[in-house]
Amino acid sequence: MKVLKTHELLSAWEQGLNQPLLQRVLIILAAAYPDESPESLVALSIGQRDRRLLQLRAHLFGPDLLNTSDCPQCEQKIEWQNKVLDFLEPPQKEILQGGEYHFDTKGYSLRFRLPNSLDIEATRDCESTDHAQKVLLSRCLLKVEYANEKCDLNRLPGSVIDDLNAQMELLDPQADISLELSCPDCAHKWYSLFDISSFLCRELNDWAERTLYTVYRLASNYGWSEQEILQLSPVRRQLYLGMLGE
Ligand SMILES: [Zn+2]
Repeated sequence: MKVLKTHELLSAWEQGLNQPLLQRVLIILAAAYPDESPESLVALSIGQRDRRLLQLRAHLFGPDLLNTSDCPQCEQKIEWQNKVLDFLEPPQKEILQGGEYHFDTKGYSLRFRLPNSLDIEATRDCESTDHAQKVLLSRCLLKVEYANEKCDLNRLPGSVIDDLNAQMELLDPQADISLELSCPDCAHKWYSLFDISSFLCRELNDWAERTLYTVYRLASNYGWSEQEILQLSPVRRQLYLGMLGE
């Protein structure tokens, strides 16, 4: 992973403005992994992609995550804190980019690949979870056979699909980041999914706005150019800002 300078991170943020979430994530990844082609970054499995985003987040903004969730029972907003490291699963060495896997269950023989960013993007406009599931499977299931006969995806029993989902999770555990939460008001406990893509993009946005405000304040008061200010370390920028009483 490349150590991004302030102006490089700002450029990545600017390029992603008004773009869908997936594009923003890919722009950030391309900046942090300049030696990899956009095609290979988009082909990363969701777990591989999210692992990189978690590592990038820790590098850019530190190891602590602070977030909020709404209690599903009493709707109380709760704050939770976690470490990026706690969300990182051990690396799955056997994951090959675009790699194909074979899985047998209940007499069915399945050949599949793990979902990547484009597969998730294809489900974006689906109206229901079932529909999204179907779209995902139609893209990731490469071959289905029952008793050595080719089998139609639409005739696949729900229990076989459940088994396949479990197998995908096993192969790419980083794709689902969940944590157990409990509500201090009503004591309800539940599992919440954590989406590093939207979290990181939101943080990057806040950071960029703060950074540009700092540029504006320092430029207005000291007469320095944007380039000069961005070349200063964050500590120095903060100290100069402090001298203005902020
Ligand atoms: Zn509650």
